[in-house]
This record gives sequence, C-alpha cells and structure tokens, in this order.
Amino acid sequence: ASIFSAIAMAPRDPILGITEAFNADTNPAKINLGVGVYYDDNGKVPLLQCVQQAEAKLIAQPTPRTYLPIEGLGAYDKAVQELVFGADSAVIQEKRAVTVQAIGGTGALKIGADFLKRFSPDSQVYISDPSWENHRALFESAGFTVNNYAYYDDATHGVNFEGMLASLKAMPEGSVVVLHACCHNPTGAELNADQWGQVIDIVRANNLIPFLDMAYQGFGDGIAEDGAVVRRFTQTAGPLLVSNSFSKSFSLYGERVGALSVVASTAEEAARLLSQLKRIVRTNYSNPPTHGGKVVATVLSTPELRQLWEDELAGMRVRIKQMRDELVKKLAEKAPGKDFGFVRKQVGMFSYSGLTKDQVEKLRAESIYAVDTGRICVAALNSKNIDTVVDAIAKVL
Ligand code: PMP
Repeated sequence: ASIFSAIAMAPRDPILGITEAFNADTNPAKINLGVGVYYDDNGKVPLLQCVQQAEAKLIAQPTPRTYLPIEGLGAYDKAVQELVFGADSAVIQEKRAVTVQAIGGTGALKIGADFLKRFSPDSQVYISDPSWENHRALFESAGFTVNNYAYYDDATHGVNFEGMLASLKAMPEGSVVVLHACCHNPTGAELNADQWGQVIDIVRANNLIPFLDMAYQGFGDGIAEDGAVVRRFTQTAGPLLVSNSFSKSFSLYGERVGALSVVASTAEEAARLLSQLKRIVRTNYSNPPTHGGKVVATVLSTPELRQLWEDELAGMRVRIKQMRDELVKKLAEKAPGKDFGFVRKQVGMFSYSGLTKDQVEKLRAESIYAVDTGRICVAALNSKNIDTVVDAIAKVL
C-alpha cells in the first residue's frame, strides 16, 4: 500500500454539486438559480465592453510577459486603493494602506488569513451565520478556529441585529471578525448606516480585528455607496484588512483578479506589513498573473473606459433590482397571501428566499435548481425565465 491508499474522499462542494446535477438534467427548459455568477437578460455571462476595449488597447501594444512585482502591478494596486478607500482617503495620503494584487477575492482572503495566523496566532475567527461557504474552510485551513456570529433572522428575512451585537460583545479581545462590506452572500440581508456605526464602535472598543470582505462592490447601491463601510472603518483608529474582488464587478471570474489591502497606524508600520505580505505571496505563488490586473488597471485609470465600466456596472445593478421587483410583483399575483416583499429589501446578487429544503427539492423536480438553504441568485433570473420560476415557486409553496 502506498501512502496515498488510505486517503479518504473529501466532501463535495455543496454548490458545485448543484451545478453537476443541473448539467446532467436533460430538460432544455432547466434553470440554474444556484450559481454565484451574474447573467445578463439573455442568460449569458457578459463580456463587458470596457474589458474588450482595454484588451484591444493592450493587444495593440504587445508587451513581454516578465514577472510582476511580488505585490502585483503598481498601477493596479494604486487603482484598487482609490476604489476601495476613496481617492481622497487619508490612509492613502498618509501611506498607511498597503495593497497586494491577489488571485481573486479568495486569494486575498487567504493571504490575509495566513498573515493573521503568523502575527496573531491565538485569535479566534468569527464569520456570519450563515456566510459564504468558503469562509470557514479558508480560515480553518490557515489554522484558525472558526466561530459564527448571529446574523440572519429567518422571521424577518433581514439581519438579527440584536443577536449580532450580542455576539460581537461576547468576542474575546483580538478576535478576527469577518464582515461582508456589502451585498451579503448568501442572504442579501444588509445592515443600515446606523447599525454599521454601532458595529464599528464595538469592534474598535473591544479591540477586535475587522476583516472586510468586499466581493460585490457596485452590485448593491453604487460603487461609493457599497464602499462606504470600508471608508468609515478607516476613519477610526485600529487595524483593518480588506479583501476585494473584480470577479463580479468586471465579469472577470476566470482571470482571478482581486486584492488584499491592510491599513496600518503609520507609514513605517505599513512598510513592515507589506514586507511580510510579500513573504506570504512569495512562498505561495511568487507573484500574480499579468493579464487580469492589467485589464482592470487600464479600465480604472483611463477616463473613458472608467466611465464605460461605471455605466455597465450600473446596468448590472439595475437589472438585479428589476428582477427583485418583478419576482415580488409576480409572486404576489401567483401566490397571494404569501408576502415576498422582503426580497426587495435584500441587496446584491443573492436572496435567502425563505424556501425550505423540501420546497427546493420539489423545484428541482421541475428542473429549477436552487441551494438547499433557499438561496437563489437573483442575477440568474431574466425576462424569459422569470414566469417559469414564479409558477414553479407558487406550485411548491
Ligand atoms: N467573498 C465572497 C463573499 C464571495 O461571495 C466570493 C465569491 N463569490 C468571494 C469572496 C471570492 O471571490 P473570487 O471569486 O474573486 O475568488
């Protein structure tokens, strides 16, 4: 027997399992609401015009593919900081923010997790209940014990804010608290500005370490609006980590473009932090790939392309909101007596629809695929499939 012969099968990814079942379904009218991807009204993943134009520019001036610096393309890291913190941010002017280009938002989270494990090894990590399913596994794989904080309220389909405050107050000093900066995945339930203020106060008063995960900037209320929480945190003293991703906002899933930014208390401290972040990158994959970072940096730093991106992103945001409206309106007609108005209040790509596991299984029999928890991707709805979805939901309720 070899050392490999006793290795057990790893558990299947629950969401990829849905996609496998969807792919195996031979019904041509099948609909997959289990995905975490934005589709346009034709059910296609968009290739943004701003991306195509940036790629055309890059191809017109071919450059050799030398290694990027360990921390990534300078123009990219700068553009990320301005987007995430705001161009006029004090943490940028004071050189207290450091940014490393990362392999998507996931890679950014993992660099941050490895960094925290090295310099705050005894911290507990807290993620929302529920959270993006990879948060737990990712921080556990970095060596942390991962706990939940109260977040979702089944009864209101919104945030259990009292529960969340109680959880935050009970966390030991030095705990890492992973917060979704906007567009909570999987629930769509959001804190309001006043509630965020209370969260920030407790995080700072109890010396917790905030790790803001921003995978959907621009999918909620707007680019600046969705980044507001990050900026509010930078206006308070204390450490801050921010992971961000362009997978959704640029529809560049496969290019793996994200970044980790860390805010220090002085420029000198920031330089030390950057040197340590670079060490983590160097020992994992040495330096990031060139193409996606160049595309995003080109779009963000070229005024016409930047405007085009903002318009295209607004288009995606508005379409998601329209689908929320349509879903609520059509369900009110087809399933009177059931109030789905909460779907309109939820924000971002996802909705915890309130459908039970049993109802989700019945939907599957109609070739409509959702996550067992009732999570649906609102961005997978479109003008052609929404009536089918509404009829099927009305039937299983
Ligand atoms: N954080 C959250 C909350 C996410 O939903 C996702 C992906 N959908 C990520 C991080 C990871 O982003 P990426 O695909 O860029 O790795």
